[in-house]
Amino acid sequence: MAPMTRRVAIFIQGVVQGVGFRPFVYKLALEHRLSGWVRNAADGVRIEAQGEPEPMARFLEGLRSRLPAQASIDRMDVAELAAATESGFRIISSDPSAHPRPAIPADLATCPECLAELRDPKQRRYRYPFTNCTLCGPRYSIVEGLPYDRPKTSMKGFPLCPDCAKEYGDPLDRRFHAQPIACPRCGPRLSLLDRTGAVLASGDEALRHAGKAVLDGKVLALKGLGGFQLLADATNTRAIVQLRERKHRVAKPFAILFPTLEALLDDCHASEAEVKALRSAQAPILLLERCEGGHVVSEVAPGNPRLGAFLPYTPLHHLLAGEIRRPVVCTSGNLTDEPMCIENEEALSRLGAIADLFLVHDRPIVRPVDDSVAKMGARGLELLRRARGFAPLPLALPRRAPAILALGGELKNTVALAVGDQVVVSQHLGDLESAEGAELLERTVEDLLRFFEVKPEVIACDLHPDYRSTALGERLSARWKIPLERVQHHHAHAMACAAEHGIEEDFLALTWDGTGCGLDGTVWGGEALVCRGERFERFAHLRPFQLPGGDLAAREPRRSAVGLLYQFDRRLAHTMAARWFTAPQARALLGMLENGLAGPTTSMGRLFDAVSALSGLREKATFEGEAAMALEFAAARFDSAESYPLPLTGDEPASIDWEPMVRQILADLEHGIPSARIGARFHASLAKAIVAIAQAAGLRTVALCGGCFQNERLLRQAHKELAAAGFTAISPIKLPPNDGAISLGQVLAVARRGWAAGSHEGIAAAPPSL
Ligand code: ZN
Ligand code: ZN
Ligand code: FE
Repeated sequence: MAPMTRRVAIFIQGVVQGVGFRPFVYKLALEHRLSGWVRNAADGVRIEAQGEPEPMARFLEGLRSRLPAQASIDRMDVAELAAATESGFRIISSDPSAHPRPAIPADLATCPECLAELRDPKQRRYRYPFTNCTLCGPRYSIVEGLPYDRPKTSMKGFPLCPDCAKEYGDPLDRRFHAQPIACPRCGPRLSLLDRTGAVLASGDEALRHAGKAVLDGKVLALKGLGGFQLLADATNTRAIVQLRERKHRVAKPFAILFPTLEALLDDCHASEAEVKALRSAQAPILLLERCEGGHVVSEVAPGNPRLGAFLPYTPLHHLLAGEIRRPVVCTSGNLTDEPMCIENEEALSRLGAIADLFLVHDRPIVRPVDDSVAKMGARGLELLRRARGFAPLPLALPRRAPAILALGGELKNTVALAVGDQVVVSQHLGDLESAEGAELLERTVEDLLRFFEVKPEVIACDLHPDYRSTALGERLSARWKIPLERVQHHHAHAMACAAEHGIEEDFLALTWDGTGCGLDGTVWGGEALVCRGERFERFAHLRPFQLPGGDLAAREPRRSAVGLLYQFDRRLAHTMAARWFTAPQARALLGMLENGLAGPTTSMGRLFDAVSALSGLREKATFEGEAAMALEFAAARFDSAESYPLPLTGDEPASIDWEPMVRQILADLEHGIPSARIGARFHASLAKAIVAIAQAAGLRTVALCGGCFQNERLLRQAHKELAAAGFTAISPIKLPPNDGAISLGQVLAVARRGWAAGSHEGIAAAPPSL
């Protein structure tokens, strides 16, 4: 008797588009001799399959167990259907009607097969810079909408040639239904431009000229995957100094692109796990220990024991790095603190004073996607900047939320959008202080809403009245007539950590950063918050001190130091002010302190600055975090469990009293104790204080978040001490500890308010008085 025929409808959600999923289904169906079809829907992938029960079972099993590397399944529904008359298995075109879900793939680094073709003179894609396949290539940076098909990408202007069309249509080809495929005949082309936009060369000749220019010490602007980048020879001091001068970037470290892993290992130490991360499809910039005797000049990352290193991740980068064959600085093509350029014209006008030459192509970039930055922490890969390779992969929420649009903070910003029970966090957008930054914020909001076809029901923003993101929130809330809910900055940090770790119980959050607007309108930043559901209490904070000069203080650690000293030793504050400032400056500064014109702060970032300045490491900084980094790096030369007294005093909220510690630091300095030892003791003191606060709060789960926890020494010591004391410590992994996570935290904070109230209506968006 012939076995019964079974027909099923399968609906799959997850990361299943743009990752070779349909070809995978197709091949699996052929293997099991099933008939039917597969197609992309805006909210997932739909399959109907028919065949004998035994092969059908293996097919269903294989859908999960043999998934393509970059795909993941969140949900798979199977329903039985009546058998139909049909033969063969087909991939049919997408159904554009369904509601889009966050399932856009991130950009993927060149796969080994494509790389081999690139290097094989017998292949038609030999040295073709836009080679890709279903397993690799551009995705988020070229997608205009869902479902993810070629007409909805910036490749729509490049009709496939017969050869490419054949590959695209052949189910057994690696390029079967790979949307961005191209070849030298039908795809994008390179050109080399001078500063006026005149074409100097094209195709392979452009590439060779560009490589030679870098070797000659020139600065090259490269139109990469998600935006323009600036390249300069990292082994040439003059080239690097020139790039720093033109970019007005005094000391902030540059990332280095190495031509090969072997070259990278000449300059950096990398563990097995680190090598794996470097070669992954995400291929982030990874912070690695430098080794002795490398080729990269010190001007690339002055005084920094680490290098931000990465490997080529597009064929274009592979080819160019192969021409140069040296490590090159490869940094975002922007002016300081502005977003990256993505268009040729824009790059010529904005980068004209920085770059000598422009290596460009004619494949449009739909949105800027910067390189991601990560480090290998004790808990695996930890992101410090989340963009290429990671954005916009969604994160799960514990429950369905209304369509919350969260606008984030001001620096290192991202925006986030809740879609059902998931949340999409945008790629790193950078600082909003420039007009370009503010414009990018608005474009990204439009982009996300259009992409997911979502009409926001609530907007979330920071408490800070002067953030550009807050201003946009106010404008959009009025225009769309929907509530605006404000979320305190450090509570947002805590909620972001809870969101990515799925924490639902009450927990303590140490949220230590440079600055965030507090509930009382002062600058907070050394907070210990007890979080219960949608609410939080300020359990403890750093003892406040006056900060003369407000925002200027972030660039001048000496201001923090004078403010700190002024709190307990005015004579010493005067002495140090006279040493660090001109007489009129010192008078103005002390006048502000005396007249109470310098606002109080509990900022941990500024305490780091003050200690760094007092220890003689940095009295001025050229970028935020420079002084704290100097203290961390100094401490690396000293290993000791010694600490300073850092008592927790008073209650509701308690205060972390830094005075006994600062007095001892001053005594140590008097006795000629080196800054390395002071730095080590300072870090150890903070880790011990964290445990003391955790014990006082009495909650088992402790979150460590905020920009200060980018400091690896502090993070490791705090984790170690907390674990030893029996606490469960969590810290950001998928999102950065810094303000890149604020938008995610805002989403969860506002979602929790809605869940607590039973619905979202009826939650008054009461702006606090500031
Ligand atoms: Zn490939
Ligand atoms: Zn072609
Ligand atoms: Fe912050």
